[in-house]
Amino acid sequence: MINAPRGTNDIIPPESSKWNYLESEARSIFDLYNYQEIRTPIFEYTELFQRGIGEVTDIVEKEMYTFKDKSGRSITLRPEGTASVVRSFLENKVYGQAQPTKYYYIGPMFRYERPQAGRYRQFNQLGVEVFGTKDPMVDAEVIALGINYLNNLGLSDLKLYINSIGCPNCRPHYLKKLKGYLQKNKNSLCDNCKQRIDKNPLRILDCKNEVCQLVVNKAPKLIDHLCEECNTHFNSLKMSLENIEIQYIIDPNLVRGLDYYTKTAFEVKYDGLGAQDTIFGGGRYDKLAEEIGERDIPGIGFALGIERLLLTMEKQDVEIPDDKSLDIYITTIGKKAKNVSFKLINQFRKNNIKAEIDYLDRSVGGQMKSADRMNATYTVIIGQDELESNKATVRNMKSGDQQEIQLDEIVESIKKMI
Ligand code: ATP
Ligand code: MG
Repeated sequence: MINAPRGTNDIIPPESSKWNYLESEARSIFDLYNYQEIRTPIFEYTELFQRGIGEVTDIVEKEMYTFKDKSGRSITLRPEGTASVVRSFLENKVYGQAQPTKYYYIGPMFRYERPQAGRYRQFNQLGVEVFGTKDPMVDAEVIALGINYLNNLGLSDLKLYINSIGCPNCRPHYLKKLKGYLQKNKNSLCDNCKQRIDKNPLRILDCKNEVCQLVVNKAPKLIDHLCEECNTHFNSLKMSLENIEIQYIIDPNLVRGLDYYTKTAFEVKYDGLGAQDTIFGGGRYDKLAEEIGERDIPGIGFALGIERLLLTMEKQDVEIPDDKSLDIYITTIGKKAKNVSFKLINQFRKNNIKAEIDYLDRSVGGQMKSADRMNATYTVIIGQDELESNKATVRNMKSGDQQEIQLDEIVESIKKMI
């Protein structure tokens, strides 16, 4: 017996119908907000992620599935969607069209992490990216889209955290200050963060280690050191959120794990999820297109973990509509009846009537049980008598009422009944 690789999941029925539901709800809200789908490859050249995510990030340092293909090129299974979407936008010269461009994507991502609740090696994200505008109102639109999606699904008690992480104008000054402060408190940091002071001090701000949090709480805050432009942007975002009654909490220690983020950063969390409590996160990345394709194109987006969304729905006991039902189950008695029924079921299906038939030669009782189990609205019973009279018995499974219908009229009659 060969098992699936660690950290991967089979999505089998009835679970898969929940996925279909979440994805179709997502597609309809994306459409409502006028976002269009983009599908990029599941693997890319490794350089894309090294450049687009940044060498000094958890993803690039330790989480990528990287391998050489048969021609010796380094290939990586995508760990996130944004770098690929930006690459595609640049490669296809979509910037030459009217802007902004509003994309969404849904699909699997791959990260070599320690599997645990809400953390897998193959997981699924849905996300959006908007290119070509710096308008802070778009930041609010992106956030609102994500939150409204979750609210429409019936979730509550979600918390939105926002921050601004500045830009290349103001961040360097702040980083100098932060580094100075962290150097002074170096001995109180965890070993990992001691290493980060020079390489990526911002990451220390979101270290989960308690000792580091004590240091971080007293650290200088980026939002107190924003340049005029970033400050105005952050204030406009807050106003836009207030304008559409979306509550937020400012978290000055919220940083994104990725280097290309500028200005707005946000996360939506549900406390009941435990350690992996972020359902979606995102932010503005006005410097990413420059990094990947030497073009100055602003962008903003979010990525939402579908597995974590499902966990949240379970924790909150949110019902997912179950579409498991049949219009018709045909119960047959005898070989001849089965042949007639096979022809009939074909006609039902051609007429968009969802029907099923027995393929295990069950007894009549067994077939009626199957009809029940499959939640059939009607059963059509065809046996020797029915064949002789050219009629079928149609039984309403809820009320138990039965009627006889001519075989050559049955499709039309059932169409009217359902
Ligand atoms: P975390 O802090 O949980 O590691 P992250 O900062 O690495 O999150 P992002 O890169 O922002 O996460 O990805 C966006 C979302 O994708 C997360 O909020 C989460 O819902 C989901 N996600 C990320 N990594 C995983 C994983 N290994 N398994 C399942 N879902 C994940
Ligand atoms: Mg992570």
